[in-house]
Amino acid sequence: MKLLQSKLSRYNAPQVAQAAGIYPYFRKIESDQSTEVVIDGRKVLMFGSNAYLGLVNHPKVIEAAVKATEKYGTGCAGSRFLNGTLDTHLALEKRLAEFVGKEDAIIFSTGFQVNLGVVACITGREDYILWDELDHASIIEGMRLSFSNKLKFKHNDMSSLEKRLQQCDPDKVKLIVVDGVFSMEGDVCNLPEIVALAKRYNATVMVDEAHGLGVMGDHGRGVCNHFGLTDDVDLIMGTFSKSLASLGGFIAADKTIINYLRHHARSYIFSASCTPASTAAADAALDIMLSEPERIQSLWDKTNYCLKRFREQGFEIGHTSTPIIPLFIRDNDLTFKITRDVFNEGVFVNPVVSPAVAPDDTLIRFSLMATHTYEQLDYAIDKLYKVFKENGVL
Ligand code: PMP
Repeated sequence: MKLLQSKLSRYNAPQVAQAAGIYPYFRKIESDQSTEVVIDGRKVLMFGSNAYLGLVNHPKVIEAAVKATEKYGTGCAGSRFLNGTLDTHLALEKRLAEFVGKEDAIIFSTGFQVNLGVVACITGREDYILWDELDHASIIEGMRLSFSNKLKFKHNDMSSLEKRLQQCDPDKVKLIVVDGVFSMEGDVCNLPEIVALAKRYNATVMVDEAHGLGVMGDHGRGVCNHFGLTDDVDLIMGTFSKSLASLGGFIAADKTIINYLRHHARSYIFSASCTPASTAAADAALDIMLSEPERIQSLWDKTNYCLKRFREQGFEIGHTSTPIIPLFIRDNDLTFKITRDVFNEGVFVNPVVSPAVAPDDTLIRFSLMATHTYEQLDYAIDKLYKVFKENGVL
């Protein structure tokens, strides 16, 4: 065996989990991603989706994607920089910038690529990136490519952030990067304090609104809008893959920042542009977000209902206040087993284990859509309660 294969063959964690019948990944969905999905010919309730507004199978979103494909074809055959810019990309960029309250924006092909490209290039060798320890992997990957000094602060801990700011050279750029809503734990960043510290230490702020868009703020404008701090946040990042029911992402900021990123972010320049269908679907989903605010209200009604029920039943749900509800288990294998047992009861939830979180912080991620019915919520919570109890977690 060659050295590489011999080394990699020692990695057998998936096979061990498969042999134990608790491997939870790559479950094969055979239907659209509604509140119910079909897996192995069987209907299960979906509580693992990020499509918070339930728009991925909305007729208007589908129609927009089909029409765009008919007009522009299936792909752009190149990057935005060269031959891959469509009129629809430019129109959506303008719209998204206005939507989140910034001067300009650029669209990337995924949200991951936004963070990767932006965080990697925006600060220089002598500058600093200050990041929350629970920031999304795409921010961390971007940082790994950056030449700047990287300073980690404790999750949402403002005295830890302040200590880090004190360590920085006051004359160098200091970029604070946080998730607006943390993707696994569902808690909201302490933006008012972050902005206050940024002002005190002359730092720049970037907020990842992946899970804030469509959920928080006026008509789903996100966490920055929710706190009334849009003008104090320098860079606002969003994805199309959650509330906007598509695939792609964007960064919005002032013209100076966007001009730089447009010509330096390598995941933007050296990767094919967002497909016509994805662009049109996100645009159509934005139309619905703006014209049907009752969807967001319904998402919050269901969120508050579930938060209350989970608390009443004794689940440990951490500091969440959003449609992302972590159900802490604090054991890798048990998290896999419970995911399997709940799935057998007809409920799809996502396991979150180490290294995504610390081994003592493993959890089941239960996420809501505006389109869930209360009957579905009750069914899922009852089954989760039964399985958690059977496995000795409650
Ligand atoms: N940021 C956060 C906080 C996320 O949760 C995700 C996706 N899970 C991304 C960025 C990446 O977005 P995308 O799926 O559009 O690549």
